[in-house]
Amino acid sequence: MANIFYKILGKSNILKVLDYLLLDTSIDVSILDICDGISLSRKTVENIINNFQKENIIIETRKVGKTKLLKINKESLISQKLIEINDIILKQQEEKVEIGKKAFDPETMFCPDCNIKMNKGKIDFEGQRVDGFICPKCKKPYLSLAQAKKIDKILKKTKGE
Ligand SMILES: [Zn+2]
Repeated sequence: MANIFYKILGKSNILKVLDYLLLDTSIDVSILDICDGISLSRKTVENIINNFQKENIIIETRKVGKTKLLKINKESLISQKLIEINDIILKQQEEKVEIGKKAFDPETMFCPDCNIKMNKGKIDFEGQRVDGFICPKCKKPYLSLAQAKKIDKILKKTKGE
């Protein structure tokens, strides 16, 4: 669940274990899986797991040999709320990525040769007029990144990738 949760509540071992369990609430995991996944000692993880079990946040699903498997108890109201918070945080992170993508389509670009601001405009690219930037000094045309990505996608499609 990451950043925001840690920012608010601190990056404690308890949260690390919770974060791991919330990664995929449909599969059950062993204590060893958790230890490996978040690099904590067996004793630390066991203590946290015991407390979670006492609170009914997680349940034992089955045993494989001597190893018990655990997962988030979806019947528990606390667990349901934790899953909800996790989902909200994941969604917010996705939105951040979306905003981040837009940042790659800059309103302004600087000519790498002249180091001055270029003008937005239509440029010739393989016989087509596409969106780009033109340097007012050296007159060199540059593709906008959004356009470059679009062309890259089209090229990949025609190559059958
Ligand atoms: Zn230039």
